Amino acid sequence: MVVVMTPEATDADIDAVAERVRANGGEAFVSRGTVHTIVGLVGDTERFKAIDWRQMQGVDHVIQIGKPYKMVSRDLHPETTVVKVGTVPVGRDTFTLIAGPCAVENPEQTMRAIRAAKDAGATIVRGDVYKPRTSPYSFQGLGEQGIEILQEARREFGLPVVIEVVDVSQVAHVADVADCIRVGTRNAQNFELLKEVGLANKPVMLKRGLAMTVDEWLQAAEYVAQRGNSEIILCERGIRTFEPSTRNTLDLGGMAVAQHESHLPVIVDPSHAVGKRHLVAAMARAALAAGADGVMVDVHANPEQAMVDGAQALLPEEVVALGGQLAAIAEALGRQMNR
Ligand code: PEP
Ligand code: MN
Repeated sequence: MVVVMTPEATDADIDAVAERVRANGGEAFVSRGTVHTIVGLVGDTERFKAIDWRQMQGVDHVIQIGKPYKMVSRDLHPETTVVKVGTVPVGRDTFTLIAGPCAVENPEQTMRAIRAAKDAGATIVRGDVYKPRTSPYSFQGLGEQGIEILQEARREFGLPVVIEVVDVSQVAHVADVADCIRVGTRNAQNFELLKEVGLANKPVMLKRGLAMTVDEWLQAAEYVAQRGNSEIILCERGIRTFEPSTRNTLDLGGMAVAQHESHLPVIVDPSHAVGKRHLVAAMARAALAAGADGVMVDVHANPEQAMVDGAQALLPEEVVALGGQLAAIAEALGRQMNR
């Protein structure tokens, strides 16, 4: 059950609702939105149903959501949420291109990739400093040194940055230096990490776990929302199937289901989905045509020398060409590219 407060509800009104939930043996999760604050009720639903919440000051209405995710459900919020990354609105009326290096390797490689991203029309930049690698012998990311390079890029290009966190201990610092915190596929069900990013005061991009159903993905997002952070962007990045010819299997159907079931914006990462450069642009175009709210792609000026994921990185000229194609498709569909 979710109690939706009126826009005029005071902190005391919200506290009174939370206190009543606790007095009835439950737990209350408060999520402060730009217009409405909502209180999620966890506990004995039958007992909650017996209470006339609308009698309480500041309560607008009560919603019963019979799904395992509530705050991220479209039942709560019929319009798609717009998540602001820096000043860039992601979702609803716009299509967003996010691009940049998979990993920050050095200043020159990072700047070249981000320059290409900007030339392509990307309005958000990606670049990771903590890499969750399959092999412990592979490059694990530059850590703090990488953050400094990204800060420099942020100053030079003026674009907001999304950075992955792989551990609870990194969340507060990354929230300070990035415009959006990403939780990757391998941590998509790391519930302690999800709770921690849920407490951060920054938007969160949540990738779909590589063996997660859409339902499980939305429940993972609910962990973040339940802690008070509803600024969540979902990212479909391919799932593991029996098919080995692409790195993963891009699930555009799953992307569309997530959009239908949730009010959160949903983007697609075709780079990690297919893992092959020559397929990335086509899948990015397909994602836009299928209604995704954005795409995120890897860029590298020298992919054969890349320390991570060179095989899927677009060359600078390829990402620029893709940017033009996306703009043309967006226009044909009457959608607005973020600029
Ligand atoms: C990435 O985007 O660099 C990444 C590690 O992605 P995923 O978590 O989807 O594998
Ligand atoms: Mn990668």
